[in-house]
Amino acid sequence: MRTLYLDIETTPNLAYVWRLWRQNVSLSQLVDTAQVLCVAWKWRGERPVQFAGINGGHQEMLDAVHAALTEAELVVHYNGKVFDIPHLNRAFVMAGMKPPAPYAQLDILSQVRKQFRFPSNKLAHVSEALGLEGKVEHSGFNLWVRCMAGEASAWQEMERYNKRDVLLLEELHDRLSGWLPGSPNARLLDDRDDVCPQCGSDDLRREGHAFTQVGKVQRWQCRACGAWSRSSARVSGTQIRSMS
Ligand SMILES: [Zn+2]
Repeated sequence: MRTLYLDIETTPNLAYVWRLWRQNVSLSQLVDTAQVLCVAWKWRGERPVQFAGINGGHQEMLDAVHAALTEAELVVHYNGKVFDIPHLNRAFVMAGMKPPAPYAQLDILSQVRKQFRFPSNKLAHVSEALGLEGKVEHSGFNLWVRCMAGEASAWQEMERYNKRDVLLLEELHDRLSGWLPGSPNARLLDDRDDVCPQCGSDDLRREGHAFTQVGKVQRWQCRACGAWSRSSARVSGTQIRSMS
């Protein structure tokens, strides 16, 4: 499966505001809306992290990401289902582009929310708590302002920051491998039998049984990543099942 790790940064919304505290900004106050500022992405199993920002041309950036998404079978991101992907899609449609080829998505943030209770679900906190090397420190909001002004050194810093997040995403994906049941990763090795659906290892151990509505099936645990899985063929069961 062709797996793509992806992370975007956006420009802020720009608005005229009357006050600083507890503001509701109406559409008529809005001067400019948030745009995709830059994107970093990386293929699983390949080393280089790619980067494209509006400093290299807005359309060039969109073309490069669109091509990567079209090639991807699985896109892994952190909060990408509500942030990165819709932002990119809006940029594509506004630029008059057609949709990229369909791909499955694995939003690690929604899995982290579902499975654990960290005091904060921010990528920085979760990765640090799991012993991964943290995010790159950046110089704060000012970095975005300097990038929008086209400052070369700011863009270098942004690129480092954006790329690091993508590497972190892959490390986090590996670290959480046993903890992502039913994730699209389960289709990773569709064409191979008897391997862990999460990580692809063939080091599986029989561990009891699972029970479906119509019967009993073999349950397995992967010795490599710890993920639980089950056979599809029934050990025993019935042809009759309850209504609903
Ligand atoms: Zn596994």
